[in-house]
Amino acid sequence: MIEVKSLKKSFGKLEVLKDINIDVAPQEVVCVIGPSGSGKSTLLRCMNRLEEPTAGEIFIEEDNLTDTKTNINQLRQRMGMVFQQFNLFPHKTVMENITMGPQRLKGKSKTEVKELGSQLLEKVGLVDKAKVYPDNLSGGQKQRVAIARALAMEPSIMLFDEPTSALDPEMVGEVLQVMKDLAEDGMTMVIVTHEMGFAKEVADRVIFMDEGFIVEEGSPAELFDNPQHERTKSFLSKVL
Ligand code: ADP
Ligand code: MG
Repeated sequence: MIEVKSLKKSFGKLEVLKDINIDVAPQEVVCVIGPSGSGKSTLLRCMNRLEEPTAGEIFIEEDNLTDTKTNINQLRQRMGMVFQQFNLFPHKTVMENITMGPQRLKGKSKTEVKELGSQLLEKVGLVDKAKVYPDNLSGGQKQRVAIARALAMEPSIMLFDEPTSALDPEMVGEVLQVMKDLAEDGMTMVIVTHEMGFAKEVADRVIFMDEGFIVEEGSPAELFDNPQHERTKSFLSKVL
């Protein structure tokens, strides 16, 4: 589903990603963990070319994302991205935030997108918020709208960059639950997270990154209960 080959990314002289290789299978849930500054966000941003890789190749469902001939906008529609900051449009209602994308970019009719919007609001537990503006929502609700908005484009892959890091603790659970439901529905997901309990429970595979490298990867049991590298052990001892 996703193939990252010898990916490198530098900002000027700063080498942020140093030879990253990842394969993500259909329906796989991959959690990426690691210290701040290790390159997790940059990796995710390269995966939908919000950042231009310095070297290497990325394939999304066999299409070469890094090829200049690739229609990047079309390819991006197949990947939903959810950030720490929700980035909702403040002057649009919840329903409008969700339906704008498919209406504009996929040429769907108003009726079609409203139907889709209602289904998605149901999925994220916010049916009663369709006409509300983002300012009147809690952080957890905003993030659930952001997830629904990403899903409205009917992506085959979802990328999450610390989706719960900006939330008050009592709202983390409701967002993680939506992500867990998505995993159970068989969505292919790459999730950068500090929520180790979630990674343990939901991930098929956990990748530990440090200083631009993948230090170690494995099943949650392998990585959390039997880490092989000192750097992994040291990181886990601080966060678990
Ligand atoms: P993480 O998400 O793991 O905390 P990031 O990918 O955000 O790490 O950042 C990795 C490194 O790259 C950091 O040193 C950060 O300062 C640097 N970096 C990220 N984005 C840019 C940018 N646009 N320009 C320059 N440096 C950047
Ligand atoms: Mg980050």
